[in-house]
Amino acid sequence: MRRTLVLATLAAVAGLTAVVASQQSPLKQDLEILVRGPARIDKVKDGLYVVRGPFVPCGTRGCRPGGADDGLIHEAGDVAVRVTPAGLILVDDKYPEFVPEVLARVRDVSTLPVKYLLNSHHHGDHASGNAPIREMGIDIIGHRNIRENFLRIKQPGEPNITFADQGAVYLGGVEVQMFWLGRGHTNGDTVIYFPDLKTVHTGDLVIDGMPVIDYAGGGSALEFVKTIDNLLKMDFDTMIQGHGKIMNKDEVSAYRVRFEEMNRRMRELVGRGVPKQAFGTLDGARAQLKLADLGWDNTVSTTAWYGSINRYYDEIASAR
Ligand SMILES: [Zn+2]
Repeated sequence: MRRTLVLATLAAVAGLTAVVASQQSPLKQDLEILVRGPARIDKVKDGLYVVRGPFVPCGTRGCRPGGADDGLIHEAGDVAVRVTPAGLILVDDKYPEFVPEVLARVRDVSTLPVKYLLNSHHHGDHASGNAPIREMGIDIIGHRNIRENFLRIKQPGEPNITFADQGAVYLGGVEVQMFWLGRGHTNGDTVIYFPDLKTVHTGDLVIDGMPVIDYAGGGSALEFVKTIDNLLKMDFDTMIQGHGKIMNKDEVSAYRVRFEEMNRRMRELVGRGVPKQAFGTLDGARAQLKLADLGWDNTVSTTAWYGSINRYYDEIASAR
């Protein structure tokens, strides 16, 4: 009797431990809670800043006619600002109408001129501000696939300097490197590396929300995970993501685990013969893939992710 009681107590304690462990599981992403407001500039490390915001409802450009309000606060792509004695190097520039606000926040930390602008990828919320930046005579550097994507979708402001797999900019004794590590969010995703600060800017390869796969822009869910593996081989401890708070390397590893788990679930569903129609609504997709387990059921990018659901299903189905 006594032995049974002890065992029951041990089982209860073990059960409690299991519950606590699952609540702390790295599988679930804890999302930053954003509050509506203007753009701001945050220090990342000495000589490196990030311009975040403006923080707006509905979407990265705010509420627009015909747009749906998902109840979340969004921000356009985060802009990195590297200060050197000879001038500034920026990564990304948000939308054209946000450029004056971005440059005002940059001037809060340095009055030196912007010498180069680097692009993480071509999407408008990160790079359509290129057009007014280029008109200021600032050189824009991007992977050749980024330039091709600009030209394909007829988005003004394509990079005027390109590279293939790797590039670097040297200014004022500072080196900034650019790496193409594979396809993922698009076919032009570039990791910007600040080697002296052990910091990367990943664009939308990692975001504070669901990964979005832009198939029309050359993205791939299966290649995406491999590209994050390549990112994790780099020597960094701090990451500026496409949208969201500063992350450390462990958080990037957890993001990769989560993404692989989503792909595993989709592979298993396709293998069991669950038809594409089961993903015919966002709620259906949420339930099938148990997105709440991952913390991805209602993020700033869940709706955008869902826009690629048919091609995601097809990619996983064709790879089996
Ligand atoms: Zn993007």
